Amino acid sequence: MATKPRFSTDEQPTVTASDNALETARRQLARAADCLEIEPGIRERLAYPDAVHEVTVPVERDDGSVDVFTGYRAQHDSIRGPYKGGLRYHPEVGRDECVGLAMWMTWKCAVMDLPFGGAKGGIVVDPKSLSDDETERLTRRFTQEIRDVIGPNTDIPAPDMGTDPETMAWLMDAYSMQEGETIPGVVTGKPPAVGGSRGREEAPGRSVAIVTRETCDYYDRPLEDVTVAVQGFGSVGANAARLLEEWGATVVAVSDVNGAIYDPDGLDVAAIPSHDEEPEAVTRYAAETDVTRLSNDELLVLDVDVLVPAAVGNVLTADNADDVRADLVVEGANGPTTVDADAILAERGIPVVPDILANAGGVTVSYFEWLQDINRRAWSLERVHDELESEMVTAWNAVREQRERRDVTWRDAAYVVALSRIAEAHDSRGLWP
Ligand code: NAD
Repeated sequence: MATKPRFSTDEQPTVTASDNALETARRQLARAADCLEIEPGIRERLAYPDAVHEVTVPVERDDGSVDVFTGYRAQHDSIRGPYKGGLRYHPEVGRDECVGLAMWMTWKCAVMDLPFGGAKGGIVVDPKSLSDDETERLTRRFTQEIRDVIGPNTDIPAPDMGTDPETMAWLMDAYSMQEGETIPGVVTGKPPAVGGSRGREEAPGRSVAIVTRETCDYYDRPLEDVTVAVQGFGSVGANAARLLEEWGATVVAVSDVNGAIYDPDGLDVAAIPSHDEEPEAVTRYAAETDVTRLSNDELLVLDVDVLVPAAVGNVLTADNADDVRADLVVEGANGPTTVDADAILAERGIPVVPDILANAGGVTVSYFEWLQDINRRAWSLERVHDELESEMVTAWNAVREQRERRDVTWRDAAYVVALSRIAEAHDSRGLWP
C-alpha cells in the first residue's frame, strides 16, 4: 500500500457538500491523469462539464398559488456515449454539486466499460414539502424545460435522492407525449410496467456483494471464513448483507439511522426488513431480540474482516480511520471515505474498494434497462443476474490488473481504468472541428 498521503491537507475541501463533490472529482481526475500519459488538452477538457443547463420550473400548488423552483442538468462528458446520471430533488441541490456528481458518473460508467458518459441533475426543493400531485406537476414541467437536452441517445436520467420509479414514469410520459411516441429509453429506473428492468432495485447491493466476494477471494479469505459489518440497511446495505449471508459470510452487524445491532455469532439478516420494506426496522428487531445494540460509530470500528459503509457519505474520516479494525473496506455508499481517511487507511494497509466500482451495479442494470427498452424486449431476472455478474467480475479484474501493475490503491486503479478508456476515446475521435 502507498505510504504517502493522498493529498496535502491544505487542499482538503471542507466548505460545503457541493464544493466537495466537484473538488473531489477534479482531484481524482488529476491523480489518475498523473499515472497516465494523457494529452494536457484532454485532461483540461475533462476538468469541466460539456454543459450545465439551469432552468426555472413554475408549479401550481394545490391551493392554486404558483411557486417557482430552480432545476439543473449538468452534462460532463459524452465521448463514449449518451450522458447518464440521476435526478435528485433536494433543498441543497446546486450547480457545482451537479457538475461534480456528473464527473463521478463519467468515471463510474467508464470503469464499467458502459457506452455512456456522465450527467447529474436535480431541482432545489424539499420533496417532503410537496403533495404527490405537486411532485407530478413539478416533474412534468421540469421535463419540458430540459426536453431539448435529454433523450435516449443524448442524456438518460435515473432516480436519485428524493426521486423514485414513479417520478421516472412521469418523466418518461411527459417526454413521450411531447415527442408523439412512447420512448421508454429516455429514462431508467422506471417501474417494470413501463419498461423498467427486473433486478434494478437490488443491483447496487448485488454488485457490492459480488465485489466483496471477489476481493475476499483475492486475499485468500473465502466468504465462509469472513465476518461482515454493514452500515445502513437500505436498498444497498440490505441487499448486500442478504447476498453475502446467502453466499456463506457471517454478517455480525447492521445498522440504520437510529443505531446498530451486533451479534458476534452472526445475525439472522434475512429476518430483518430493509428500510424500504419497513423504515428503521433494525431498531425494532433489536427490541424484539437479545442482540447487542451499538451506535453507528461503534459499528464502524468493530473487529470484523469486512466493513461495508452503505448509508451516507463521509462516515470514515480522519477522526475514526485510525480506529478501523476491519481488514477490508468495500464502499457501498457514494463517498463514505474522506480524502484524509483514505490516506490513513492506505498507510495502515487496509484496502478500500471504491464506490465507483463496488456500487456500479445500479448504473449497469440501468444500461441493461436501456438495452431492453431500445429492443422492446424484457430480460428475465436470471439473465439480469448473469449479465451483472459477468460485467462486475470483468470490471473488478480490470481494476485488479492496474492495481498490481502500478502498485496503487484500489481507488487509484479504478480511476486509472476509467480515465484511460475516456482519454483513448477522446484521442481517437479528436477535436471537432
Ligand atoms: P436507503 O434510503 O434505501 O437506505 C439508507 C439506509 O441508511 C437506511 O437504513 C437509513 O436508516 C440509514 N441511514 C441514513 N442516515 C444514516 C446515518 N447518518 N448513519 C447511519 N445510517 C443511516 O438508501 P440507499 O439507496 O441504500 O443508498 C445508500 C447509499 O448508497 C447512498 O450513499 C446512495 O447514494 C448510494 N447508492 C445508492 C444506489 C441506489 O440505486 N439505491 C446506487 C449507488 C449508490
